Amino acid sequence: MSADTVNGVLDLVRPDLRDFAGYRSARSDRTEGRIWLNANESAWDSPAAAGAGLRRYPEPQPQALREALAGMYGVAPSQVLVGRGSDEGIDLLIRALCRPGADAVVITSPTFGMYAVCARLHGARVVDVPLLDTADGFECDFEAVAAASERAAARIVFLCSPGNPSGTLLPRDAIRRLASRLRGRAVVVVDEAYIEYAQAASLASLLDEFDNVAVLRTLSKAHALAAARIGTVIAADALIGVLQRCQAPYPLPLPCVEAALAAVSRAARDVTVGRVQATVDERQRLYAALRSLPGVRRAYPSRANFLLVRFDDAGGVCRRLLDAGVVVRDMRAQDALGDALRISIGTPEQSAQVLEVLRRGSGAGARVAVA
Ligand SMILES: *Cc1c(COP(=O)(O)O)cnc(C)c1O
Repeated sequence: MSADTVNGVLDLVRPDLRDFAGYRSARSDRTEGRIWLNANESAWDSPAAAGAGLRRYPEPQPQALREALAGMYGVAPSQVLVGRGSDEGIDLLIRALCRPGADAVVITSPTFGMYAVCARLHGARVVDVPLLDTADGFECDFEAVAAASERAAARIVFLCSPGNPSGTLLPRDAIRRLASRLRGRAVVVVDEAYIEYAQAASLASLLDEFDNVAVLRTLSKAHALAAARIGTVIAADALIGVLQRCQAPYPLPLPCVEAALAAVSRAARDVTVGRVQATVDERQRLYAALRSLPGVRRAYPSRANFLLVRFDDAGGVCRRLLDAGVVVRDMRAQDALGDALRISIGTPEQSAQVLEVLRRGSGAGARVAVA
């Protein structure tokens, strides 16, 4: 820990933002009232949405949703910030912690593109410590990450676990050691967008030990609410307060909050658990099938709801899939993935169609006519 650490993680917040109060919205100083004339809202419901409750500005952080998400993620409501997808969480963390034109973030490529995009938009430097491509799949070189972070005096280390697109679940002990080593110097952000599919414990519990850890969760993947844009930052109370002051005044549209509350209800979660299991089963089936297919150089093991696959002719495979109406993610523009595609796990029928196209193309070259 650095000698000047007094306030813990608040010492990592941009000095010019430490006493920043943010925008005081009409909802910031909510008091009891009978007649609300403080926010210049219409006195009538929209003729297009009568009775929908859309006339008033929404709560900035709806308490019911905060509590429901905190309960689901096993943390305190004060450790939770809800935003417009975890994408907003990434952006807020960078804006709050990095001085534009001065501070750096560390990423481990190949990884989720938004870390570098948000850093670049904010004028923060991006230091890349590439994952190691090993016989067991992609692995994080934690010693190199720690050293690079210290050398660059980085404010944030972005880890993705399970990784997109690597599929790798990062070891808890190594992240714990990294957080310990970087305490007082950098916040270790663990993006757990796909953790449900790993059926492994979240690293949010590291917050009991370290205030320089932040975890990102989302309802966009396993909870099937990508269009509602609901993501969560889990971090120390003090950091959550700072992030909220950097956030837009009314980030969460009411219909999205209602959808999120329904999605985290007991009944919906029971269904979600079953769908996650079905996806995991299908992932294993597709992985096994791909590995035995000619033309497949390598299918990486995955703890998420996609497979990263290298092909002898990735461009050709991509085209043939598109001809059959199947859209997968072309990864070839990324360093170290010049022959790779990323295939999301769909239904068994959808996997069968993918495999049919691949088998057809990998045969003698004869296209089987489709009736
Ligand atoms: C999909 C994805 C997200 C985005 O989540 P939203 O909550 O929809 O913004 C975040 N991180 C990773 C690694 C993802 O793949």
